[in-house]
Amino acid sequence: MYKTHTCGELRATHANQQVTLAGWVHRRRDHGGVIFLDLRDRYGIVQVTVNPDLSKESLDAVSNVRMEWVLQITGMVQKRPAGMQNPKMQTGEVEVIAQSVKVLNRAKTLPFLVSGENDLPDENTRLKYRYLDLRRERMTHNMILRHQVVKFMRDFLDQYNFVEIETPILFKATPEGARDYLVPSRLYPGQFYALPQSPQQLKQLLMVAGMDRYFQIARCFRDEDLRGDRQPEFTQLDLEMSFVQRDDVLALVEQLYTELISAITPHKRLLSSPWPRFSYREVLERYGTDKPDLRFGMELIDVSDIFAKSDFRVFQSAIEAGGVIKCIVAPGCAEYSRKEVDALTESARALGAKGLATLAVTSEGLKGTAAKFVTPEEAEAVKSKTGAQEGDLILVAADQRAVVNKVLGGLRLIFRDRLDLADPNMLAFGWVVDFPMFAWNEEEGKWDAEHHPFTMPQLDDLPKFETNPGEILSDAYDMVCNGYEMASGSIRIHRSDIQLKVFELLGLRGDEIEQKFGHMLEAFDYGAPPHGGMAPGIDRLVMLLADEPNIREVIAFPKNQTGRDVMADAPSEVEPKQLKELHIQIRE
Ligand code: ASP
Repeated sequence: MYKTHTCGELRATHANQQVTLAGWVHRRRDHGGVIFLDLRDRYGIVQVTVNPDLSKESLDAVSNVRMEWVLQITGMVQKRPAGMQNPKMQTGEVEVIAQSVKVLNRAKTLPFLVSGENDLPDENTRLKYRYLDLRRERMTHNMILRHQVVKFMRDFLDQYNFVEIETPILFKATPEGARDYLVPSRLYPGQFYALPQSPQQLKQLLMVAGMDRYFQIARCFRDEDLRGDRQPEFTQLDLEMSFVQRDDVLALVEQLYTELISAITPHKRLLSSPWPRFSYREVLERYGTDKPDLRFGMELIDVSDIFAKSDFRVFQSAIEAGGVIKCIVAPGCAEYSRKEVDALTESARALGAKGLATLAVTSEGLKGTAAKFVTPEEAEAVKSKTGAQEGDLILVAADQRAVVNKVLGGLRLIFRDRLDLADPNMLAFGWVVDFPMFAWNEEEGKWDAEHHPFTMPQLDDLPKFETNPGEILSDAYDMVCNGYEMASGSIRIHRSDIQLKVFELLGLRGDEIEQKFGHMLEAFDYGAPPHGGMAPGIDRLVMLLADEPNIREVIAFPKNQTGRDVMADAPSEVEPKQLKELHIQIRE
C-alpha cells in the first residue's frame, strides 16, 4: 500500500504516530526554509510541514513541487501549537512533520484551479477536463452523495424483498415518447437493436416470470431534443411489483424517499407527511402545471363567475369562446412600474397569452391596466375571492383554459424566483394521479399514450374506448417535487385483450402490433399477474439534494448542452472499415 492513512482522517488522536500519506498538492507555501504543503485526497486535506533538516533527497523533491503533483509523504503527526489550529479544516488540529517526501508523479499547470469555487471556467472546459473538475470538493461531494443515495435505495428495497436484476441494453424499441437510439447489427445486415428508453417491457416480463418485486438502477436512452436540462442517457430507479394497486406502490416509494432524505440530507425538510395528492385536473386548475412547486401558495384562482358579465371586451370574448378568466396574486407588487408590468406581459405572451390584465390593490382602489373596466362590485368580489390585500398585484389572464393555466402557472414561477417565495431547503413532494390515458396529437391526427401504452386504463372507463377516448383516465401517477417531475409510474395492463385495444386505439396496425409487441401480448396470455411500478429519476433527486442547478453537476461524465461528450469528443466519425462491416453508407 502506498499509504497508511487518508489525508482527511488525521485528528489530534493520531498525534505522535508515524503515517504515510499519498495525495495531491493542493497548495504550497514557502516560508523561507520551512515549506508547507497541503496534501489532498478524496477524504480531505492535511497540512504537511517540511523542515530544512530533511534528507537532501526529500528536500530536492519538495523544492520542485508544484500544484497537483502526486506525492507520497511519510511523517509524524503532531498537534499544532495553541493558536495555530485551523478550525476551518477537519484536520486543523494537527500537521504532519515530513520525514520523507517522494514524487509519484508530476502535473502540468492545470487549465483551471481545483482548489476553490471561484474562477471556474465555462462548462465546456470543465467537461473537457472532467477528471480535473471532479477533483473539486463540491464535485467529489456530489459523486459521494449520489453513491449514498443509490446505496440507500438498494438497501431499502432489499429489506422489502426486491431483487435487483439487470436487463439488456441492446434490445428493441420500448416507446416512452422519445426517439430511439439505434445500434446497427453487423451479423444481421439492415437490422438494428434499439437502446431502451426504459426497461419498461422487460420489468413487466419479469413480473410474468414471477419475480414479484424487481428493481434496477437503470440507464435509459432517449434521443430527445436538447431542450432544458436533459441528457441523452440518464438513470432511473426502475421498479416493479406484482399483485399491487396504485396506493401500494405510492406508499412504498413515499416511505423510501422520506427515509432516504432524513438519513442522507437531514437538513432538508419535507413539506408534509403524508405527501399531498392531487388529481391531474385539480393540479392544473390550482397550479397551472402537472409538476407544481408546492413550496409556496399563489395558486390560480378562477374569477370567471365574477367577470362573466364584464364590460371589458377581453374578458367578454374569452367567456364567449368557452374560455375562463383566472388570476394570481403577487404579494406586495402593486407598485410595479409600467415597465415592470410590460415585462410581465411579455413573459405572459411568451407563454402563449394574447395579453395580461393587471389590477393593483391600492389605498385609492384598484389601479392597473384593467382597473377602468372593473365595477366596484366586481372589485370587492375579486378582493374577497382572492384575499388580495392593499399592496398586492392581481394578474388576470382570460383565454382558453389550457392557455390560461399555462400562462399563470409560468408567471407563478417567475414570481417564485423574483420574490424568493420558495425555501431552498424544503422538499415539497406530492403525487399527481388520475391522468388522462390518451392525448390527441393534433399534428399527426391520432391518439398518443399520455404515459406509455402499457398503462392500465381505469376499468370504469373501458366503455369509453368506443365513444370518447379523450375522457379515459389511466392508473398512472407522477411524483413531483419543487416544480420537477421526479417519477412516473402506473398500474399496468396485464391482459392481452386490453393491451390490444390500446395499441389499436393508438393507430397501430395488426402486423405492426405483432412485429413490435407480439412478445408482450403472448406473455400476457401465459398467466401475467396484475402488476405496477414506477421509475424515479436519480439524477434529478441528487441534483435537488445537492442544491445543484442542473443534473450535469451530479453526473460524472455528462454530455454538454448540445449533446456532445467534449472530453472524448463523441459522437465522432468512425473508420470506413467499421461502416462497411455494419453495412452502412454515409450519405453526404
Ligand atoms: N417506464 C416509465 C418511465 O420511464 C416508468 C414506469 O412506468 O415505471 O417513465
